[in-house]
Amino acid sequence: MTQDTPEFDVIARHFTRPAPNAVLGVGDDSALLQLSRGMELAISVDTMVSGTHFFPDVDPENLGHKALAVNLSDMAAMGAMPYWAMLALTLPKVDHDWLAAFAKGFFDLAEEFDVTLIGGDTTRGPLTLTVTIMGEVPAGASLRRSGAKAGNDIWVSGHIGDAALAVAHRHGKLELTEADYREAVMRLYEPTPRVALGQALRGLATAAIDISDGLLADVGHICKLSRLGAVVELAALPLSPIAAKHVASDVGRNAIIAGGDDYELCFTAHPNSREVLMDLSKMLGVPLTRIGQVKRGKGVSLVGGDGKPVKIDGRGYDHFSAP
Ligand code: ADP
Ligand code: MG
Repeated sequence: MTQDTPEFDVIARHFTRPAPNAVLGVGDDSALLQLSRGMELAISVDTMVSGTHFFPDVDPENLGHKALAVNLSDMAAMGAMPYWAMLALTLPKVDHDWLAAFAKGFFDLAEEFDVTLIGGDTTRGPLTLTVTIMGEVPAGASLRRSGAKAGNDIWVSGHIGDAALAVAHRHGKLELTEADYREAVMRLYEPTPRVALGQALRGLATAAIDISDGLLADVGHICKLSRLGAVVELAALPLSPIAAKHVASDVGRNAIIAGGDDYELCFTAHPNSREVLMDLSKMLGVPLTRIGQVKRGKGVSLVGGDGKPVKIDGRGYDHFSAP
């Protein structure tokens, strides 16, 4: 019998599981999928680089969760049902304890959402994780960024700001109490992808996005593709008790509105849908909050409780902008 090379050992030990929803999973030159009739394939990829997207000392189980969660969140934002994932792993060395913990975080979440790992790639180099996610959405029913209409409400799910506050704390820009940091950092590492909400929003939301770059930047992405503007009300934002303690400071407020990494859904809907959306919120147990309005024009403005503009420093995360 031939001995497995370390690469195949990694794949066999940590990343080979049954793939009941695929024609063919891990092990061949490619996976094979059968799409359902009348459905479009939704497909998206996200890369996470050590030191850029996560602190190098992150718990590998949290990292496994996050690598998949951010991709599930993209499916949610399209109103798609996630089914299949591929994992491209670049590792500085083979550390089986680290890999076992990473795989646990990844597969625990995958099982929760009935997502199957159908393949990937394993290479050596600086720690980098790339996950491709695939799912299905009924033809023509996807939630796109481009569908917002003037006069639509802007909504956000859950609460925002905690993840960015944890990052700001780690960078020494503000100080959270130890208990607050512990809670906020879990929102950074273990975001909850709003998959059921995304699918329930088909036919209700006119446009949708998941909040990864920062609330205002992501509202801006909807506005740009919908060729409209928006007003967001600071006082209306759904803040956690932690975020509420920091919204009065410039640094805290900037983290909350521009920091990102929340992986909540932000979407637009006709004002006629308010009641249905509140019912949906109750049914799913996911808070939904109206935070502003789509307007004619260009750009996103943030207004305070007095209706006056609030100065914004952060512009959202951009990998290639000057620091
Ligand atoms: P190839 O040489 O054709 O690229 P590989 O040797 O890279 O194939 O991979 C062998 C099989 O293992 C393929 O089916 C591939 O999809 C799968 N695979 C490789 N790395 C991973 C991984 N990290 N997670 C899941 N599947 C993987
Ligand atoms: Mg390969």
